[in-house]
Amino acid sequence: MLDNDTMRIALGGVSLTVLILFYLGVYRPTRSSFSGWWTVSLLCAGSSTSLLLFNGSAFQIVANPVSNVLSVIGVTCVWFATRSLRRGRGLPLWVLGVVPVAILVPTFLQDPGQNIWAGNGVLFSYMGAMFVAASAEMWLAWRARASRSTYELNGEAVVALLVSAIASSALGAFYVVRAVLYYVLGPEDPMFSAVVGTAPTTGILLVCLVAVTFSVSAVGWDQQTQDLRRRAMEDDLTGLLGRTEFRLRSERALELAASAGVGAFLVIADLDHFKAVNDIHGHAAGDRALVAFAAALREALGPEELAGRLGGEEFGLLLIGEDQAAAVARLDALSEAFAERSAAFDFGLPTVSFGLAGMDEGGSVSAVYERADLALYRAKDAGRDRVISYDGEMT
Ligand code: GH3
Ligand code: MG
Ligand code: MG
Repeated sequence: MLDNDTMRIALGGVSLTVLILFYLGVYRPTRSSFSGWWTVSLLCAGSSTSLLLFNGSAFQIVANPVSNVLSVIGVTCVWFATRSLRRGRGLPLWVLGVVPVAILVPTFLQDPGQNIWAGNGVLFSYMGAMFVAASAEMWLAWRARASRSTYELNGEAVVALLVSAIASSALGAFYVVRAVLYYVLGPEDPMFSAVVGTAPTTGILLVCLVAVTFSVSAVGWDQQTQDLRRRAMEDDLTGLLGRTEFRLRSERALELAASAGVGAFLVIADLDHFKAVNDIHGHAAGDRALVAFAAALREALGPEELAGRLGGEEFGLLLIGEDQAAAVARLDALSEAFAERSAAFDFGLPTVSFGLAGMDEGGSVSAVYERADLALYRAKDAGRDRVISYDGEMT
């Protein structure tokens, strides 16, 4: 059996090598949040293990507490990495401030200069809890992989996620057992050393670290692809579809509706005298008004309908329905709902003009766009704050 120091040197060396390869090969090119947190974890794991080589020397009193702190930070970053797999999961960054203190207290109470196990009961329990939490995140991401709440992982990344979830679950179980045996048997018990002592621990960490690192590179690349795709599709400010994506999807929807004999309307909406909002209240207030309009739009639309920002303060809508009068009524209601949002502002939100056109006049999809534009132009001309539907007379 290899001795503890040899195992530690192996683990320290492997983590550092993997760290450099991973940083250069995955984190730098992708900048994905998963790989960022994983890089920090590797750095902590490598240095924490290396510090334990000072056990038995005069440096132990410093090396041991620092090693404990690095371990809790490292394992917290593993958990953060897995939380980034699903969208909208916040990171409780304050944990990184609290856990170092929480581990230093028991460590210093247990004589870290002499006792190599100082603070380790708390440390093992925390590591067990974090690996369990991390594997829970991964299993949830795996289960939600087809839904929109997670990054839509491709085939390779799904396998990678599975490998990492299994590795993390194994580590979680291992550290829970280690914590229990630490309290039940004590760390000097031969049974403890044989089952969960330094050598087996370092061994399992080594295997999991390499397995997970190679798997997560696939996830890192995938996250970046998803991010780029989303950024290309969505408008930054409002989160609605961007111009190109809206155009593509609305054209498809209009064609589909026409061939299925279902009614669909294209609407172009433009906020009235919006320049004045910027001029009087500032650009930031203008931005907030745009966001409020987007929120009102989202509330007004059905699941099959579309909304996009065509540029500036101009928006596109795709409404489904047979009845043009009903579509106009819905837009009037939207105007009202938007005006009611003024309550949250210290100025009145602008009114909105709408131009509406359907497929029923015949012709191509781009003809429908031209007609909606023309109708909007008429709405502005007629005094704004209204819905105008295209009719055959307009030129
Ligand atoms: P009209 O009723 O004829 O539509 O008048 P308007 O003032 O709304 O139209 P105009 O096209 O003259 O001005 C649009 C303004 O929208 C000018 C531009 O500064 C502003 N704008 C465009 N994009 C943004 C944005 O992202 N944020 C903010 N705050 N303002 C924007
Ligand atoms: Mg305008
Ligand atoms: Mg405009």
